Amino acid sequence: MLEDKNQERTSLSSLGEFQLIEHLTKDIEAKQPTTLKGIGDDGAVLNFKDKRTVVSTDMLVEGVHFDLAYMPLKHLGYKAVVVNLSDICAMNAKPTQITVSIAVSNRFPLEALEELYSGIRYAARIYDVDIVGGDTTSSQKGMILSITAIGESEEDDITYRVGANPTDLLVMSGDVGAAYMGLQVLEREKQVFEVNPNNQPDLEAYDYLIERQLKPEARKDVKDLLKALEIKPTAMIDISDGLSSEILHICKQSNVGCNLYENKIPLDPQLISVCEEFNLDSTTVALNGGEDYELLFTITMEDFEKIKANPNFSIIGHMTQESEGVHLITRDDTKIPLKARGWDAVDEA
Ligand SMILES: [Mg+2]
Repeated sequence: MLEDKNQERTSLSSLGEFQLIEHLTKDIEAKQPTTLKGIGDDGAVLNFKDKRTVVSTDMLVEGVHFDLAYMPLKHLGYKAVVVNLSDICAMNAKPTQITVSIAVSNRFPLEALEELYSGIRYAARIYDVDIVGGDTTSSQKGMILSITAIGESEEDDITYRVGANPTDLLVMSGDVGAAYMGLQVLEREKQVFEVNPNNQPDLEAYDYLIERQLKPEARKDVKDLLKALEIKPTAMIDISDGLSSEILHICKQSNVGCNLYENKIPLDPQLISVCEEFNLDSTTVALNGGEDYELLFTITMEDFEKIKANPNFSIIGHMTQESEGVHLITRDDTKIPLKARGWDAVDEA
């Protein structure tokens, strides 16, 4: 429904591979001081001197991770970059470069790749990272997009999933659940559109949720926010698969337990009202919905005063001894074991 039906179509086969790469990457300039050589040779050359280099890669497959029926190509390009940068941020590092690899079938014209690349380049500009390489090739069916993100950090700043202590506090940035509900709204509109293509959806009441789904942001700012508060997180992860699954990752890798408080989980008011409309429990959505790309981390109890009134962060629980297990403390003070439930489990709630 969001695709432009009047766009021009230039067949990819009219350009060779090198011409295509040249066309998509012309005038890309490297701005990061750590980039010695970007695009234009057999390999990029980076120099991080005495800093640590953090690398993360992610692959997105059409029909598995995205649906072009409601994901405009420009947004897809932007999101593909952001989800990778989020992993760099989750190491408490600063993203600096990306490489971009794309495989497409011949159903995509050149204009579609230009659109995709405009989103990738926009994200690179917003997040101040250099595009230093990549590849384009053909696929038998659909689109596959793989991005590798590179970042830098002082050795002491790097934060792993291992490192949470049984007395630490559990903290997160932003709010959770909105991206999942944005997807529910878009899926519903897609079904309406399939029945009646002339229907013009009015999505204003869902703007925040849809934006969280189609144009998520990586929390590149958190590293600096914590530094300004003089807080060094003890463990950190980004919330890509849902809050409960990320909490379980930290607990398992740090050998600790956790009490998460239902009434402390930050929810946007729009999420709460749309959950009511869809007859879904907002806590279940917050725990199991994914793709929020907020950061979840633990801090020592001594840092409580520094963070407690900060509007960027919510203290949502505390860690415990591993033997105590991982629990959700509900609003009526019931203690229930936290499970990493799948994406589909939300619908059964
Ligand atoms: Mg991650």
